[in-house]
Amino acid sequence: PKQLIWFRADLRCHDNPAFWEAAQAAREAQQPLLAVFIITPQQWLAHGLGSNQVGFLLRNLAQLGQQLSQLNIPLKLLNTPDFSSLPKCLVDFCKEQEVQRVYYNQQLEWNERQRDQAVNQSLHQEGITSASFEDQVIFPPGQLRTGKGDYYTVFTPFYRKWLGQLNPQQLTTLPCPAPQPQTHLTSDPVPEQLEEFPPHPYYQQVQSLWPAGEAAALQQLDDFINQALDHYAQARDFPAQPGTSSLSPWLALGVLSARQCLAAAWQATQGRLASKDTGAGVWTSELIWREFYRHLLVGFPRVSRGRAFKPETEKLAWRSLNNPEVQQQFQAWQEGRTGFPLVDAAMRQLVATGWMHNRLRMLTAMFLSKHLLIDWREGESFFMKQLMDADLASNNGGWQWAASTGTDAVPYFRIFNPYSQSKRFDPEGDFIRHWLPELKHLNSKQIHQPPVDKADLFTESSYPQPIIDLKSARERVLQAFQAIKN
Ligand code: FAD
Repeated sequence: PKQLIWFRADLRCHDNPAFWEAAQAAREAQQPLLAVFIITPQQWLAHGLGSNQVGFLLRNLAQLGQQLSQLNIPLKLLNTPDFSSLPKCLVDFCKEQEVQRVYYNQQLEWNERQRDQAVNQSLHQEGITSASFEDQVIFPPGQLRTGKGDYYTVFTPFYRKWLGQLNPQQLTTLPCPAPQPQTHLTSDPVPEQLEEFPPHPYYQQVQSLWPAGEAAALQQLDDFINQALDHYAQARDFPAQPGTSSLSPWLALGVLSARQCLAAAWQATQGRLASKDTGAGVWTSELIWREFYRHLLVGFPRVSRGRAFKPETEKLAWRSLNNPEVQQQFQAWQEGRTGFPLVDAAMRQLVATGWMHNRLRMLTAMFLSKHLLIDWREGESFFMKQLMDADLASNNGGWQWAASTGTDAVPYFRIFNPYSQSKRFDPEGDFIRHWLPELKHLNSKQIHQPPVDKADLFTESSYPQPIIDLKSARERVLQAFQAIKN
């Protein structure tokens, strides 16, 4: 008989509770430990994932396989279309391999939780036991509640409670190093690509920007803590500066844990994480936002199912994509051709790198949902497909925040003006110039709002005119929100 560790959104050996427990159990029982990862292409398509993140996942999986092989733990790959076929696939594998017990870290998304219930049932019918562990958050969903016993729906009290309840030991003693090697068994090769996720024109470039594996993630964390954490509070809003950690792609796949990030910040500041004035304090609050959105997934399962957090906003009259004009505007937004330089630069950054700066995610999401009045779910799907850090909780949370359909969202009448945002957060226009070389010749005053080009058809300038009039677009969305209030 054997023990099995099932890797999912936790593609790492260090600080991995399920892996640690599985390895301990195997050692004590003197049984071999096997590792498995299950590829579910149809499910990933249904979840809107794109080639960028799936490519990154495969590369991280290959790295994990190598790390595991140094411990003589073979990584087996199973491939089954979706979560409905997964329980049988896993049970058949367990029977064939004589697995006695399956270990895994919990995932919080609705479909994933339903899948795990079904898996547990099928395993138990065959006399195979399972054990699951908390991994994604410092406090399990449900553990932090309001005085009335409800889930928090507002960030600030959640943040205070989180800090108030934090026991330093949760961060200072990382529970589990990587386990010791066992006797050799052979792994499966990890494919470089899946046919369901074909490479697109930027695919190679995107993949080469993000090195796979735990060592790369830990190096990035180390560099950020040593070089940028102290300046985070001032630098984080300026997309032309490397002011944020860029750790989100590794965090999203669990190649790095939030606990490792917080522990590193804790160590660097001797535990001073609670101040909103320091880089470490502000960075901690961003990681608590991540946790807040994860708790919401469990407390309010409707957000996992494409529903608005605020039910009344389901009635908003979004402009239909069946209308060719709206379709064209949606496409212009996706391709960075709206005629609003900072919006376009941001969208080009997304497509070319698989990542976008947080300030610009807020801006472009608001531009789509408010100025273009296009359903936030369309933008959410587009982001999901492009982002290297695609993550249901944070992506949905961010989109519903920007569209004012979410909890603790921006008020509906607060609409970022793309020109003022540009002047404030890219004052010299450096970010715009990098992504829109066609505007390189403009000075730092003109670049935010290029002068209307009256040149004839034969001149070179290819930058489009604004696709909407900001003032009337603002009126339109305010009316749409007022209509559902009445
Ligand atoms: P840092 O500023 O260094 O922050 C450290 C970590 O904290 C991040 O890696 C991330 O895990 C977490 N974090 C930071 N800001 C937030 C936030 N506002 N909400 C939740 N977690 C946060 N983040 C994703 O990981 N995946 C997504 O799919 C995603 N989609 C988003 C969509 C929209 C419309 C918006 C407004 C935000 C979205 N975010 C998403 C949150 C945020 O933009 C990214 O986490 C951040 O830009 C990643 O860059 P970083 O690693 O340099 O962050």
